[in-house]
Amino acid sequence: MSAATRTIRCPNCQKYNRVPAAAQGVPKCGNCHRPLPWIADADDAGFAEVAEQATIPVLVDLWATWCGPCRMVSPALEKVATDLAGRIKLVKVDVDASPTLSRRFEVQAVPTLMVLDRGEVIARQAGAAPAPALRQWVDRALADRTSTTAGSPGSGGTP
Ligand SMILES: [Zn+2]
Repeated sequence: MSAATRTIRCPNCQKYNRVPAAAQGVPKCGNCHRPLPWIADADDAGFAEVAEQATIPVLVDLWATWCGPCRMVSPALEKVATDLAGRIKLVKVDVDASPTLSRRFEVQAVPTLMVLDRGEVIARQAGAAPAPALRQWVDRALADRTSTTAGSPGSGGTP
């Protein structure tokens, strides 16, 4: 299932592109070569490849089919992924189909949203929010990430 692709419309030229769930770098439009919004699905089996090994930060949407607020937040997240195309990847995880991930991230409520940077959770929040608020939250997480990578004296201490 790791070779899954999604058809995503280029927000710039409106052409449809097939975008793989996992790839090196960032997907670009075959027609106008602008970065495409990257939206992928992952489950217990695919999460490592699709989310943790991604080369750009990942916005994880832990959602459930029976969850009303999830259906509301989904288009807002897709808008954020479109606005931040090339800078963030949106990965949607159906918690009922991914029991291992639900336990690992101790999901108490859906939707739970997380920003992952190379597999590490750098921001997390539960509950739906409108697109502008989500965008601010993601922007802040990405800004924190830049400042910590730049200012950190290095984190040794491997066991
Ligand atoms: Zn295009």
